[in-house]
Amino acid sequence: MSAVAVRAPPVNAFTIDVEDYFHVAALAPAIPRDSWPGRESRVEANTERLLGVLAERRVHGTFFVLGWVAHRSPGLVRRIAAAGHEVACHGFSHQLIYRQTPEDFRDETLRAKGALEDLLGAPVLGYRAASFSITRESLWALDTLIDAGFQYDSSIFPIRHDRYGLPGAAPEPGRVTAPSGRTLVEFPMSAASFFGLQVPVSGGGYFRILPYWLTRAGLKQINERYGRPFTFYLHPWEVDPAQPRFKVSALSSFRHYTNLARCEARLRRVLSDFSFTSMREALQMQGLLPAAAL
Ligand SMILES: [Zn+2]
Repeated sequence: MSAVAVRAPPVNAFTIDVEDYFHVAALAPAIPRDSWPGRESRVEANTERLLGVLAERRVHGTFFVLGWVAHRSPGLVRRIAAAGHEVACHGFSHQLIYRQTPEDFRDETLRAKGALEDLLGAPVLGYRAASFSITRESLWALDTLIDAGFQYDSSIFPIRHDRYGLPGAAPEPGRVTAPSGRTLVEFPMSAASFFGLQVPVSGGGYFRILPYWLTRAGLKQINERYGRPFTFYLHPWEVDPAQPRFKVSALSSFRHYTNLARCEARLRRVLSDFSFTSMREALQMQGLLPAAAL
């Protein structure tokens, strides 16, 4: 009797970038940084909604928490960890890396990582940059992350975009080489290929704007045709249609405000249609992180 081996599709990384609506780079022209402390905070309630959906679907993910949020809402960070999710680092200030000096980036990265580790009493292994801002101009940041003791990064988007992107970067999880020659595990952001066009179907604005059938087809393509896991990502403000509205460019407004009211239902669908775990576990399953790192 001959058995036909059927390979199970890869287990994908479910991730949330924990920040408030006023931290978003696309809205920065309308929201001065020094106004942040006085704004209504909605991140706790929105993150709780996401925690509820994940608990209902029994999925554990990775929450890349902004240091600014951890500083103001330490209880939220503890609740995320207590619910069995991985807590990772989204930097402190949500500044684009390529607009920071290496010294400023190092200082704020250590501050954010230290704040999270103090809260959790455990090492933080993963990093994701504000707006995926590790680009050709800021590859030096990979060395900073290695020096800071991170075991993986998930900031590189192998596409062309006006604010981020590293066209030509490897689309699958692997090791990326920093300028010093040292390497770091990278779980890049995911894109599907439709008619030769790279379409980042795996979260954020694209997830809200594109019809769900197209998202699903793209994610299936990554899992089944290429046999690769993808990174899904969302922000707490993406399930909050009642957030305060700001006047920004038509493009930014379209990207930020389209289909906020539909996002939570779509999230339930994607959680049913694909297998997910935390980024740390997904990388362990790919043999890229040692199980001993737990
Ligand atoms: Zn962010």
